[in-house]
Amino acid sequence: MTSTVSQSSIDEAAASLSLPSRAFIDGRYLSPGQGAVHANLNPATGQPFGEIEFYGAREVDLAVQAARRAFNGGAWSRCAPEQRKEVLLRLAALVREHALELAVMESMDSGKPIKDCLHEIGTEVPNFFQWYGELTDKLFGKVVPTGEGTTALIVNEPIGVVGAVVPWNFPLLMATWKLAPALAAGCSVILKPAEQTPLSALRLAELATMAGLPDGVLNVIPGLGPKVGEPIGRHPGIDAVSFTGSNEVGALFLMYSAQSNMKPVGLEMGGKSPLIVLEDAAISEDLIEQAINAAFWNGGQNCSANMRQIVHQSRKAEFLDKILARVAGLRVGDPLDLTTEIGPMVSQEQRRRVLGYIAQGRADGARILAGGDADDRSGFFVRPTVFDEMRPEMSIAREEIFGPVLGVFGVKSVEEGLSLATDTNYGLHASVFTSDIDRALMFAKRLPCGTVSINGFSEGDVKTPFGGYRRSGSLARDKGVEALLQYTQVKTVWIRARPVMS
Ligand code: NAD
Repeated sequence: MTSTVSQSSIDEAAASLSLPSRAFIDGRYLSPGQGAVHANLNPATGQPFGEIEFYGAREVDLAVQAARRAFNGGAWSRCAPEQRKEVLLRLAALVREHALELAVMESMDSGKPIKDCLHEIGTEVPNFFQWYGELTDKLFGKVVPTGEGTTALIVNEPIGVVGAVVPWNFPLLMATWKLAPALAAGCSVILKPAEQTPLSALRLAELATMAGLPDGVLNVIPGLGPKVGEPIGRHPGIDAVSFTGSNEVGALFLMYSAQSNMKPVGLEMGGKSPLIVLEDAAISEDLIEQAINAAFWNGGQNCSANMRQIVHQSRKAEFLDKILARVAGLRVGDPLDLTTEIGPMVSQEQRRRVLGYIAQGRADGARILAGGDADDRSGFFVRPTVFDEMRPEMSIAREEIFGPVLGVFGVKSVEEGLSLATDTNYGLHASVFTSDIDRALMFAKRLPCGTVSINGFSEGDVKTPFGGYRRSGSLARDKGVEALLQYTQVKTVWIRARPVMS
């Protein structure tokens, strides 16, 4: 999509943007004045560009009632799957049609470079609605082997009302990872976007209604975590929660569930992913581009970012030279500029956090080769930073930084590389670069994480499940058929036949 959009059309869209500002419940925006007014801050300037109302437990309850009415009514949950498919395909088409508007909105709300927003919203988001729409009428139940007097069926039913709570780093894409499979399964959803980035999800709910989604099936409530997220986690009328975000908040959702109705909780959380360059890998332009993307895509605000780059000692000097040359050319700047590669951090708080980690890394003895400080323009920018001489016990080597920081370790053997790569509490993603198929397969089998990419940085696509081992959250998967099944429950139907003949 990026290639078809001009800078002038982006500038025009930004000038004429109409921003959603209230919760979307039961097929419409709430009337004004029911929530507390907050400013939408543009991370690139630090200045407000609009206002939005934030809500609390009362609106969560309203949304649960609407979602339950819709679910029990059956217009979505019990309709023929072809009907759901038609609506989801129409929604995919509407997102494509409105992609420029949504992308500009999201870029201003999150600071994400417009070219990434255009790709995510113009291509990936509609592909998700299309793929899950297509899947609705292609999943079959099972017939169990039994004796003649019995027929037994195993069927998947929609789990009910789903609470989806998502972060700010890929606002509409993370929401879509939850919504597309949950809606395809026949569920009703209450979505809480992150407080920093609520706009695109609200507009999506409006588009879903235009596509024909029945009222109450999708509800979106902007607000703070403890005010909206916690009531979702604790609500007895919500049947399942799907959460993406930090480890700390993921743990709270398990507690909310245990203290309320024991609803299943899917958790997709953070990472501290390794990228391993073995002795036999060619340090090509492509490898460097992948390594740069792995650390700096979305300003490093990426759960699967491979910040820990583990390079064989014999290749480290060449690797670092090429990385530093590419970092020097990275275009940091205005997210609405089509040529920008790295925008600001999402918030002042996030910038402070990232700079704190950089200061700690420096104090712990890691050597800064590039960046290392805030950028001097206004807004929440951090300069792309490269550390050498990382040691495994440093906080920058153990904790998720979520900023534009790449750290390099030198290792002397395959064994040392594997041992360093697995020395983490997380297990979301790993990349391995090698020209030796046996080594590639050994790493793929031994690395304890949900996705291993060989000779590239990739999270797969809509068809491949994405999720973590260990503290990255092993309870669930987004994407793929696996995600849809998560929004269903399994029922056995056991049918006894009356004897007809002896
Ligand atoms: P966060 O955990 O602070 O917030 C995530 C969501 O939880 C937000 O909507 C927030 O409002 C809500 N929340 C915050 N406090 C809450 C509380 N007390 N009760 C209920 N809800 C609450 O995370 P973040 O800072 O928005 O996002 C960054 C994190 O997300 C990183 O750790 C990143 O790795 C993770 N992430 C993971 C994946 C994945 O697929 N595994 C994808 C993207 C981001």
